[in-house]
Amino acid sequence: MSERAYRPAWAEVDLSAIRENAAALSTLAPLCAVVKANAYGHGAAEVAGAALAGGATWLAVALVEEGVQLREAGIDAPVLVLAEPTADAMAEAHALGLTLTLYSEAGVKAAAGATGDGEPWPVHVKVDTGMHRVGASPEEVGAVVDAVTASGSLVFDGLWTHLAVADDADQDEFTTLQLARFEEVRSGLAGAGAVPRIVHAANSAAALAHPDARHDLIRCGIALYGHRPALAIVPPVELRPAMSLKARVSYVRALDAGERISYGRRYETPARTVVATVPLGYADGVTRRLFEVGGEVLVGGRRCPIAGVVTMDQLMVDCGPDADVNVGDEVVLIGSQGEAEITAWSVAELLGTISYEVLCAVGPRVPRVYIGR
Ligand SMILES: *Cc1c(COP(=O)(O)O)cnc(C)c1O
Repeated sequence: MSERAYRPAWAEVDLSAIRENAAALSTLAPLCAVVKANAYGHGAAEVAGAALAGGATWLAVALVEEGVQLREAGIDAPVLVLAEPTADAMAEAHALGLTLTLYSEAGVKAAAGATGDGEPWPVHVKVDTGMHRVGASPEEVGAVVDAVTASGSLVFDGLWTHLAVADDADQDEFTTLQLARFEEVRSGLAGAGAVPRIVHAANSAAALAHPDARHDLIRCGIALYGHRPALAIVPPVELRPAMSLKARVSYVRALDAGERISYGRRYETPARTVVATVPLGYADGVTRRLFEVGGEVLVGGRRCPIAGVVTMDQLMVDCGPDADVNVGDEVVLIGSQGEAEITAWSVAELLGTISYEVLCAVGPRVPRVYIGR
């Protein structure tokens, strides 16, 4: 994308919210700010800077590429890569001082080979205690740790796991089981003389709802961005949403009762009404289906229904019969306007998904505007 931003549509990211959320989460345990996927759409480098300013001590990314981006932005904090990368990425990861997660003997071999004659390279080993995504099984993990130690060039710096249902109180038994398996692995390794510097297990949900999962580091993504991991979780610390999705009305017209709007002509005006066009569409992450599930936006401090299917670049809104709406008026798709608020979770609930997906969907064509620096 060019630097130009003529279209009046933007994602406003309040870095003071990121800083304050990081500070609040840091009161629970040392914080690893998870900034994968462009910081859940918020902008990785800016969020990383704000999270570190708020007290985070680690950053985490999904890909080596994302770690490279942080280093290129001048960020020198510890960066954990959450999945074992392919062998061809390891030399660059080493050169940039990224901390790899390893869980296969092949991965350990490739990482050790990538260190050259350089400094010893601290790595984290991941054990799969029940999520069944990635990680060495409790039976295999000893061999992976042995390979790390035997390599001579790698250091067993961290041991971690990931919880599958920490956001669901109805499944607490499984979280307890995962944490027990993790403890068994940790103490087994310690018995064999392998003691990592850092042990970690908690995502946002566990950090907020399972104090026994906090250990030495909590890996928080969604909570850092100011959202609950699940609506049923009441955070023990105050969190404030950082991102708002906004635009300005690009066109206004009055339509008579019985007119039909957008592709498919699926919305019919119930009465003579004022219809505003908003320059954001599904190419920007505003799901096309949001119309049929009852999606609304805020105009003039009021909730107004999306009128007709969302198109690629634009959507229409029924502002009501007497609305005083003009080109240039602010529209809020996520965030607040006056007393009214549309949260990422409320949009997610309409769509049958989670706040994470709504935030990550905000596309690269939408400029990020930073406030609260
Ligand atoms: C994405 C991710 C997290 C962060 O999850 P949140 O629920 O957003 O806090 C933590 N750990 C791992 C392994 C992840 O993949």
